[in-house]
Amino acid sequence: MKELTIGIDIGGTNTKYGIVDRSGQVVFQGSIKTTEFEDFRDYFKGLAIALRHAITQVKGDHKILGIGVGAANGNYYKGTIERATNLPWKGIIPLADMLKEEFNIPAIVTNDANAAAVGEMVYGSAKGMKDFIVITLGTGLGSGFVSNGHLLNGKHGIAGEVGHTSVNPAGRFCNCGKRGCLETYVSATGIRRTVYKLLADHLEDSELRGISFDNLNTKMITEAAVRGDIVALAAFEYTGRILGMKLAETVVHTDPEAIFLFGGLSLAGDLIFKPTIRHMEANLMPLFRGKVKVLPSGLQNQAAPILGASSLVWNYLDNEKDQLKEIVA
Ligand SMILES: [Zn+2]
Repeated sequence: MKELTIGIDIGGTNTKYGIVDRSGQVVFQGSIKTTEFEDFRDYFKGLAIALRHAITQVKGDHKILGIGVGAANGNYYKGTIERATNLPWKGIIPLADMLKEEFNIPAIVTNDANAAAVGEMVYGSAKGMKDFIVITLGTGLGSGFVSNGHLLNGKHGIAGEVGHTSVNPAGRFCNCGKRGCLETYVSATGIRRTVYKLLADHLEDSELRGISFDNLNTKMITEAAVRGDIVALAAFEYTGRILGMKLAETVVHTDPEAIFLFGGLSLAGDLIFKPTIRHMEANLMPLFRGKVKVLPSGLQNQAAPILGASSLVWNYLDNEKDQLKEIVA
C-alpha cells in the first residue's frame, strides 16, 4: 500500500493543499480561497470537503498517514494559529486538534518558514545535513533552524524569527510593532522600500522611476538590474549587504553547514547571492570564515509550500520511530 501525506499551506490569499509521497512527488493538488471565509468554522468546513475530494482522486491502494500545515504564526506545540496578521480570523485557532478529529490521523501545524526548513531536509538540498538554516524571502522574511537534525521550536514553539531581529533600532517601521527589523530591508517589500529611498536620494536615470510603489515588484527590480539599471543594482547590493551582515551574526548561534535562501528574492540569483556571501564573509568572526555555504533552496517550485507542510508528517513519524527505538534499546 502506498503511504502518503497531506500538506496544507495557508496563505493570506489562497490555501494550497496537496497529497505527497515520500519522495516528494505531489500526486494531487488543489486550492481554495482563504479570503472567501470570514468565519473560521466555514473555512474549515470548506477545507475538509476539499481534502476529502482530493483523497478520492488518488488512484490505487493508499493510506494517508497524516496532515501537515504551514501557516504564519503557526505554533508547533499547541497546533494552533495565533493572531496571524495576514489571515482573516482573529484569536487562537486550534487547527491541529480540529484536523485530527475530522480525519482521525496525526496533524502538525507550524509556521511556514519552519515548514520550509523541514521540507528542505526531507525532500530538498539539505538531505543528509544536520545543521542548517532556511531563510524564506517572500513578502516578509521567515527563518527555520535545524540543529543536530531537529527543527528548533523553542519553549513556546516560535523559535527562529530572524526577520524581526534588529538592523537599525531607529530604522524602518515594521508590521510587528518594532522598528528596523531585518525584514523591513530584506524581503520583497524591503527591497521595494530601498528602491524608493534610492530614487528619492539620487538623481540618476532609472527605468524604475515613475513606477508606483504598489506596482513595483521584485521581478521588475531584477530585470532592471540585469539590464544594468544603476538604482536596481544598488538596491540589490544594499539588500545583500544587510542580509550578509545579519547572517554573519546568525551563524554564530548554531554553527550551520549551510544557509538556504528560498522564495522570490532568492530567484534573482547572483544579484542577491554575491553581495550576501561577500558581506557575510567580511563580517564573520574569523573562526567561521569559509565554512558556511549560502545556497539556493532545492525546493524552488510552485509546490514548495505544500511539500514543506507535508514533510512535517514524515519528520514527525521519523522522530516517533527514533523515540521508540530508544525505548526498545
Ligand atoms: Zn518586525
